[in-house]
Amino acid sequence: MRILALLPLALLANPAAAQDRPDPARLKATVEKLVSFGTRHTLSDPDHPTRGIGAARRWFGGELAKIGTACGGCIETSEVARAFKGPRAPNGVRIVDVLGIQRGSEPNRVVIVMGHIDSRVTDVMNATADAPGANDDASGVALVLEAARILSKHKFKATIVYAALSGEEQGLYGGQLLAETAKERGWTVSAVLNNDIVGNTIGQDGRRVADRVRVFSEGARDSETLAEAKSRRADGGEDDGPSRALAKAIRGVAAADAKGLKVLMVRRPDRFGRGGDHSPFLALGYPAVRFSVGVENYDAQHQDLRTESGKVYGDTVDRMDFPYLAKVTALNIATLRRLASAPAAPTPVVIGGALATDTSVKWPAVPGAAKYRVYWRAADADAWSRHVDVPGSQTETALKGVIVDDSFVGVSAIAADGAESLVSFGGRAAPR
Ligand SMILES: [Zn+2]
Repeated sequence: MRILALLPLALLANPAAAQDRPDPARLKATVEKLVSFGTRHTLSDPDHPTRGIGAARRWFGGELAKIGTACGGCIETSEVARAFKGPRAPNGVRIVDVLGIQRGSEPNRVVIVMGHIDSRVTDVMNATADAPGANDDASGVALVLEAARILSKHKFKATIVYAALSGEEQGLYGGQLLAETAKERGWTVSAVLNNDIVGNTIGQDGRRVADRVRVFSEGARDSETLAEAKSRRADGGEDDGPSRALAKAIRGVAAADAKGLKVLMVRRPDRFGRGGDHSPFLALGYPAVRFSVGVENYDAQHQDLRTESGKVYGDTVDRMDFPYLAKVTALNIATLRRLASAPAAPTPVVIGGALATDTSVKWPAVPGAAKYRVYWRAADADAWSRHVDVPGSQTETALKGVIVDDSFVGVSAIAADGAESLVSFGGRAAPR
């Protein structure tokens, strides 16, 4: 009672904070709207005015455009499209990703937040049956739209790309299309946040998990060459690839913001034996993670809507938890805000100090860095435990008394307002 009575006062005291808070009711309205298109199957009729993936994409693009208008044109809405053909699209299909691009002061450096707009039922080729896809993945698309609404009120260094992808269920086509678009356009990708199934708290066994979100990340990079793999093997760094550094940063954001959500930092690119739209980004060497709920309910994924021996199947809105989705959205927003405000991560970080009692550290200058933070930790630990700050004019330092054999080292770049990049792991100079 008392807390409730105090709440409006707290909001009055800080109206900016209130408008920056994801709204469970608005997230629910978005999910319900997406469900109302009947099916959003990738092979459904793209031209039908009210049913199918085309209608859903046009609606999403229209919502992004409204947000763009409300911020004086700060978000440009566009589409990228290409024909794909494969076992789950044997006759070929035009894959369309809908993008909202909020240009930063470093327009070519991007952070991407995305979900997939397509849905499916039991038979992955069934493009006509109702496939609500409320949690998989209207939840992710609603999160993207809510992030755009909130972050469009602010200005950033990096460009933010808000994306609704198609063709995930047919073969991760939309992820591939956007990853290849990033490469073609020469974007420097600072982070990719893929949100897929982020809105339920009741698991298959009835257990409720509302205080945890899983963040999946690769340690060793999918894109490593054999020479890079060999040098990583020699230097360590299995737990410090760029995607793992992103996952650790998200874990840190969650811990600092204390929004009632802990990160289970899964040391795998995705769930066991399964993949997602961040996978094509990893293949091209971009730092990317997948967010997913703390506990899954398989009766509510990829299922025909039905009841069998009293058991209800289907991915419907009533099985979701919107205050939980709002928490996952807040964590995404806090992460985007930090990484879009920060300079790029300094890379490569080169260390030395074999047969010496100090460790030397060098890195390239990063535009917009007010200072650099040089971290180290004992070589048996998971998280950075010590750091020293170095002025932005300097791009090397020596860590006195830090023995390189027993320590791991990394460097981040920090903006004047304190926003910090990902930490780049230190190793030997790349072989020429
Ligand atoms: Zn999905």
